[in-house]
This record gives sequence, structure tokens and C-alpha cells, in this order.
Amino acid sequence: MQESITVSTSKSQEMIDITAKVSSMVKKSGIKDGLCNVYAMHATAAIVINENADTNICLDTIDALNKLVEKGIWRHDKLDGNADAHIKATILGPSETIPVKAGKLQLGTWQGIMLFELDGPRKRSIAVTVLGD
Ligand code: ZN
Repeated sequence: MQESITVSTSKSQEMIDITAKVSSMVKKSGIKDGLCNVYAMHATAAIVINENADTNICLDTIDALNKLVEKGIWRHDKLDGNADAHIKATILGPSETIPVKAGKLQLGTWQGIMLFELDGPRKRSIAVTVLGD
């Protein structure tokens, strides 16, 4: 089963927890054992799995990426000024695959699935594919 989720982001950079949306799609698929792939169909957004309890983790991760990748010094900036967002998206990657067991996403206690907006605000499309028995 494959369906897409649309998320409207509200900041230039933010992490949005989409775990509940992905979980409901796994439930809807009826698949008990298999894999769930969550894929951001964008060049300046990413999908990551990390803690969703302390929101400071999201802010710290954004700060760390901004320290790692400088803004405004890249060739692509001459075109549309968002090279840093492309580079950060490349580092983080567009997708995550989560095991599904007994109809549930096998996430750890502190793990959540996040859409990582790197050049917002924008409307983002995420493909969720659930495979298995
Ligand atoms: Zn660009």
C-alpha cells in the first residue's frame, strides 16, 4: 500500500512529528509484519527518526546543522539562495524505513518519525509505503 501525507510547514527550519499519521497508515494497510518506508518527495526536506519527547532535541539538531553548513557561500545560492538547505537534506537523507511487527511500527520509546523542513514554510508531500503480509 502506498499513500501520501501532505504537511504544511510554518517555519524556515523545523522538525514536525508525523508518527501518528504514519502509524494510522500502517493500521489502515492491514499489514501485520513487514516494512514501512517514509519518503520526502523534496530536495530541501528530509525524514529523520529521533526523540519526540523533549522538543529541545529538534532545536539542538537545527542549531547543529546550521553550525555545520554555512548559509550563503555556495554556488547554488546565486540561483535561489538555498544551497545550505539542499546540503542539509543530502546529509539527512529523504527517507527512513521502519520495521512493522504485529501491525505496529517498531519504534523505540523515545523515537518518533519527523519531517525535517529545511527551506520552509512550504507544503510538503511524503510518500508512505507499507509492504509485507
Ligand atoms: Zn535550490
